[in-house]
Amino acid sequence: MSYQQFTNDFQFDLSYLKLPDLFYSRVTPTPVYDPQCFKLNTDLMEALNLTPSQADPLIHILAGNRIPESTTTIAQAYAGHQFGHFNMLGDGRAILLGEHLTQKQQRYDIQLKGSGQTPYSRRGDGRATLKAMLREYLISEAMHHLQIPTSRSLAVVKTGESVYREQVQEGAVLTRVMKSHLRVGTFEFASYFGTKEDLLMLSEYTLNRHFPMHISSDQAGLRLLEEVMQLQIQLVVHWMRVGFIHGVMNTDNTSISGETFDYGPCAFMNRYHPNTVFSSIDSNGRYAFGNQPRIIKWNLTRLAEALLPIIHEDKDTAVQIAQRTIDAFDALWDKEYRRMMLGKIGIAQEQPNDLQLVDELLQCMQLENADYTNTFAALYEDIEWDVHPLNTPSLKNWFEKWKQRVTQNEEGLATARIIMKQYNPVFIPRNHLVEQALDLATQGNFSLFDQLLTCLKTPYQYQDSYRSFLFPPNVEFELQYQTFCGT
Ligand code: AMP
Ligand code: MG
Repeated sequence: MSYQQFTNDFQFDLSYLKLPDLFYSRVTPTPVYDPQCFKLNTDLMEALNLTPSQADPLIHILAGNRIPESTTTIAQAYAGHQFGHFNMLGDGRAILLGEHLTQKQQRYDIQLKGSGQTPYSRRGDGRATLKAMLREYLISEAMHHLQIPTSRSLAVVKTGESVYREQVQEGAVLTRVMKSHLRVGTFEFASYFGTKEDLLMLSEYTLNRHFPMHISSDQAGLRLLEEVMQLQIQLVVHWMRVGFIHGVMNTDNTSISGETFDYGPCAFMNRYHPNTVFSSIDSNGRYAFGNQPRIIKWNLTRLAEALLPIIHEDKDTAVQIAQRTIDAFDALWDKEYRRMMLGKIGIAQEQPNDLQLVDELLQCMQLENADYTNTFAALYEDIEWDVHPLNTPSLKNWFEKWKQRVTQNEEGLATARIIMKQYNPVFIPRNHLVEQALDLATQGNFSLFDQLLTCLKTPYQYQDSYRSFLFPPNVEFELQYQTFCGT
């Protein structure tokens, strides 16, 4: 297959260039020494209408060594609040190869991550490690199959170059695919460093790309805030559903399209505890599992502030309007979160005391150090457990109460099972398995990595052949496990 055929496959159309210059820098990836394709996502290639192949030219494109003639490559400017502090940021080690249009005219950013320095690199090397990029590949694909909106991973290409972190590591470039890389931080950037006109143009661009139904609204800024709030509430409710801890919910990592992205120190919770944190740099637990709803509200408040100039000409009026929208967060959150938690215990029609049942379960789980995933899975899935997840005094007690509740109607338990299966995965990417898989994969042994990927394509389906993936790690692993941004 010729190079020309591949470049024709990418249907690039860079709409981002319509934005004023301050929003990006034209920059090309820095070529790498010896690109080798390490992982190629053929399913995703097909979904994007790209021709699957391991051929050399595609590797050169995805390594950043060759730019298709049809595109201009850019690094995007953005700012953001990192752990509560405002900073100027930008793509310091990522370059947008182009916006690809599928046959159905769906637009996706094709971004190379780890592709060299840009004007926003500050003191960073612009590179990424093989292990971190494989981790992003594995977890983002798992999230996709858990039916959670997320960036996806098209390929990991080894660069043949060393990357210097705490230790010398192998370098890699990940191809990240996303509806867009617009973030809360892009709006903060416009608001802090641009004019009102720049902010207006960004907002128009965003409405066109993600919320075209509001293009002609005379309250476009407000509609934008409401839409992002709705998408982010749905997203974080999903995270709470499967025990996902993002780990670095800075405003630059909060997408406008409502997709999970920036897989750095993320992890999955095993034993249920709202204070669970794995990220080595999150010493105050700002981004702990149970804090995620509070933090997303905080991030949305930063978006509201950035949008003030286009919400209303009069500042006080703008603040009032924005505040009203932010004040609606709690009720919207509660509604979605309740629906989800009740779904996890098989209840579709809420009755009085049902929420108390959820609270009691969480309290029992916390008390018993119960595994979050397996406790829910044990409610509906017939698995031969070594130790039954519900076999503790308080959980047994709760189970009886719950059974009474769901068997009030005749078809109760059967219906509850169907509901629970939709909300509760059996398999998640357990931290210890991910680490083992990455250690092997970086040595060239993809057996565990590929098994995990395959198993996690149907995470709601129990399969006996993957039984060993059910179990959480031992307590020692759990207590010492740390994740890193170091990337
Ligand atoms: P993150 O923690 O991945 O959200 O990144 C925060 C900021 O640091 C972004 O502006 C990144 O582009 C930048 N950054 C992270 N790692 C590097 C690196 N190795 N070289 C240059 N910039 C980086
Ligand atoms: Mg980031």
